[in-house]
Amino acid sequence: MRSPGRRIEDELAAFLGREQVLPGTAAEFLHDATEERGVSGWADAVVLPRSADEAAAALAWCYERDVPLVPRGGGTGLSGGAVPQGGVVLSTDRLQAVRSFVPELWRIEVEAGVRTADLRRRVRENGLLFPPDPGAAEQSHVGGNVATNAGGPHAFKYGTTGAWVTGLEAVVPPGDVVRVGGTLRKDVAGFDLKRLLIGSEGTLALVTAAWLRLVPAPESVLPVVAFFPHLESGCEAVGDVVGSGVVPAALDYLDEGALRLAGPSFPGRVPEGAAFAVLAEADGSEAEAASVLDDLVRVFEGSALAVETGFDRGALWRWRDGVSLAVATASGGKVSEDLEVPVERLVDAVRGTVEIGLRHGLTGVSWGHAGDGNLHATFLVARGDPSGQEAARRACGELFDLTRALGGSVSGEHGLGLLKRDHARWSPRVAALQRQIKAAFDPKGLLNPGKKI
Ligand SMILES: Cc1cc2nc3c(=O)[nH]c(=O)nc-3n(C[C@H](O)[C@H](O)[C@H](O)COP(=O)(O)OP(=O)(O)OC[C@H]3O[C@@H](n4cnc5c(N)ncnc54)[C@H](O)[C@@H]3O)c2cc1C
Repeated sequence: MRSPGRRIEDELAAFLGREQVLPGTAAEFLHDATEERGVSGWADAVVLPRSADEAAAALAWCYERDVPLVPRGGGTGLSGGAVPQGGVVLSTDRLQAVRSFVPELWRIEVEAGVRTADLRRRVRENGLLFPPDPGAAEQSHVGGNVATNAGGPHAFKYGTTGAWVTGLEAVVPPGDVVRVGGTLRKDVAGFDLKRLLIGSEGTLALVTAAWLRLVPAPESVLPVVAFFPHLESGCEAVGDVVGSGVVPAALDYLDEGALRLAGPSFPGRVPEGAAFAVLAEADGSEAEAASVLDDLVRVFEGSALAVETGFDRGALWRWRDGVSLAVATASGGKVSEDLEVPVERLVDAVRGTVEIGLRHGLTGVSWGHAGDGNLHATFLVARGDPSGQEAARRACGELFDLTRALGGSVSGEHGLGLLKRDHARWSPRVAALQRQIKAAFDPKGLLNPGKKI
């Protein structure tokens, strides 16, 4: 029971130590990357545990007193998943240790608060690659990537974060530290609880550490960008790449609107009349990468206006990472969704985004991971324009209907969080199973309540 009259912050500080607790007003813990859509929350306290045991103690304290707890990583989420609606925010900022790293066995165990870019740099220095590369890598945490099963451009060849997790340490209600999996690369004994936690958006457990597998870094990586005169020919080229058996590491796209807004900073020449761009990458040994690049160029040359190679890879990906910002800058803000459709329906989803936007008086553009059928469908809306935001909300509802009609999912990368929790559709039986899984882990419903389901 909580002591009457004492604030949650003070009680937690008395229990965990003053240095581990911040006031609930600590603004940087109350929003995530959905802030540009006006989403923010409130909290009673923020805790910063230094170990899994301290995190377990914080959850046990909350569980005993019916206080909600919201796990938080780098706060780069795009669905409001880490935005609290009261209760305690548990930040993984101080869980930063690399617990073990065995380069010769291609594996590493890191705490949940290690930043994605730091992990990628650390293993790269040892000739290895951790392939998942979500956009905000300097801020996002490994725990947040696991909790959202984050993807990124190179998920096309290498899969999303979950494909690289062999084990997790997590705190589960009412406050127990558990380990599921470990360094084993295969393990089919029992149900795969690790897989359930991956992508669970902090609603089943708090991830405190992860065992990750790695691969030797490719010797050579060669980008290519092809520009097409129409959406249709561009999407057809994407299908041709997939159908040809060539395996690029990444297969991204920009539609005409995104190209118009981000094109001026492209580190190369955008040809006149370009209405669709495909950015692909060939990797492997020098000979393999060169051969895949040749194959890609051959496929693209069939219908492209121009096919460009020889880029400075860093400059090209910096530009690609900046597309979102370039689009937002055009009208002072945007509302973006991360739809997922079967790759052969990409053309319909890209066209549909523009058409739905027009119906609502909005400019609709998209870009994303073409090979995965994953599009960042976006409406340009000035920040702080309530009627524009309302139009975008209605347009997004139509987008979700279209996505479902195309056999897709309302979220391919960012999760349901707060913003899309009402938009996933399951059959009654599947919905019941989802609720039962939640109840099995979190019978009181205190872990990130109001998110995902
Ligand atoms: C510019 C930009 C580019 C992006 N590009 C991509 C991309 O290419 N691909 C992609 O998939 N995503 C992308 N994202 C979304 C986001 O970066 C990823 O989802 C990222 O993995 C979130 O990590 P985080 O640490 O910031 O998580 P947070 O935002 O802190 O949290 C996200 C969710 O995970 C939960 N959570 C966080 N940590 C834990 C934990 N330790 N245990 C349990 N639950 C936890 C939170 O409760 C919340 O529900 C992008 C975001 C931005 C801002």
